[in-house]
Amino acid sequence: MDKQQEFVLRTLEERDIRFVRLWFTDVLGYLKSVAVAPAELEQAFDEGIGFDGSAIEGFARVYESDMIAKPDPGTFQILPWRAEAPGTARMFCDILMPDGSPSYADPRYVLKRILAKTSDLGFTFYTHPEIEFFLLKDKPVDGSRPVPADSSGYFDHTPQNVGMDFRRQAITMLESMGISVEFSHHEGAPGQQEIDLRYADALSTADNIMTFRLVMKQVALEQGVQATFMPKPFSEYPGSGMHTHLSLFEGDRNAFYESGAEYQLSKVGKSFIAGLLRHAGEISAVTNQWVNSYKRIWGGSQRTAGAGGEAPSYICWGHNNRSALIRVPMYKPGKTGSTRVEVRSIDSGANPYLTYAVLLAAGLKGIEEGYELPAGADDDVWALSDAERRAMGIEPLPQNLGEAIELMERSELVAETLGEHVFDFFLRNKKQEWEEYRSEVTAFELRKMLPVL
Ligand code: GLU
Ligand code: MG
Ligand code: MG
Repeated sequence: MDKQQEFVLRTLEERDIRFVRLWFTDVLGYLKSVAVAPAELEQAFDEGIGFDGSAIEGFARVYESDMIAKPDPGTFQILPWRAEAPGTARMFCDILMPDGSPSYADPRYVLKRILAKTSDLGFTFYTHPEIEFFLLKDKPVDGSRPVPADSSGYFDHTPQNVGMDFRRQAITMLESMGISVEFSHHEGAPGQQEIDLRYADALSTADNIMTFRLVMKQVALEQGVQATFMPKPFSEYPGSGMHTHLSLFEGDRNAFYESGAEYQLSKVGKSFIAGLLRHAGEISAVTNQWVNSYKRIWGGSQRTAGAGGEAPSYICWGHNNRSALIRVPMYKPGKTGSTRVEVRSIDSGANPYLTYAVLLAAGLKGIEEGYELPAGADDDVWALSDAERRAMGIEPLPQNLGEAIELMERSELVAETLGEHVFDFFLRNKKQEWEEYRSEVTAFELRKMLPVL
């Protein structure tokens, strides 16, 4: 037994922990959990815990349904909302096949695979997510309109603001689980919050995002409201993005930094961005995986001022240009570590493991193939005409899930990164969602057509 495993077993005893939840994530990004008694844990570390994979979205075909969850002791944390003795703790798991090999259906493994390649190339991949979400009075299940839990706006600081109490409690809880928070504020829409996590390696970040979503829902319940990570719950307000800042390090040197270069951006950084841009369309079904995701990235622009809330619709990059898909934030003098690129398409409903895997794959491809970075866009790309954008070589992102699926289907990069099993399952599942959506007669049609036709 290694040191981390011993630490877990000792802590269970000292802190009177009677339940240990083993967590993992399905292909669509839903958190799954099975609780074991502490007495079972030694065996779980050794051999893992068996479960029926066929019941989990995307995990197995029925004939290979036996799967094993093996806890990662490095992710052990006590759940603060179950702190009173006897307590509850959790660990993230790796999913294995009955023969002990990693399961190709496990999103955590998909990310680990590309991270291993990254480290073979001599890089470490860091991520810093800005997570936006809504607090609602309650979450209607009948399809009626949700009601935001407050009526504040961007950076508002008002007494009796639900969001303020909420953020204080939520951040305290995150910090007690070892998740550092950098910034938090009220976002642009009523009820909308943003909490930014401190940068970390991509696997820890993805685990942290899964924990984050659960903690937000838990704290919301305690305060009598509901948290939602749906990308665009309101037509008239901005949606919830999960912008993420990315950087590659070689040892402790930021590989995106070059002193004296434009924006202090190195050749590696430029090719990485070029990779993100060239493959943006085909990875879109992963970074924006729901029918509703496209209401966020196409809900804004000049047509309905403000409601898009600075979510990108076009494939371009810029320096401090918030209408661009990729932004290179201002360089902070003397802070060579701070050179990074912000990807603004990702929404809060994404599976973080698969999302970071495809982004990383696209960026690395740019580096390996030495892609040239096209000129940046300094203009507000929403304000340009289609012809002007075409002249500048700026293509749109997919406009709906159907288009995104078509692009993904033809993508070697995504097939290779997700692996055949996840790639096939994902496409099948998303086509079904798109077909179901397309065939539904919506409230819009009934409202507009029924009275006049
Ligand atoms: N809510 C916006 C989005 O959907 C982002 C606002 C911001 O710039 O933080 O991407
Ligand atoms: Mg924001
Ligand atoms: Mg941002």
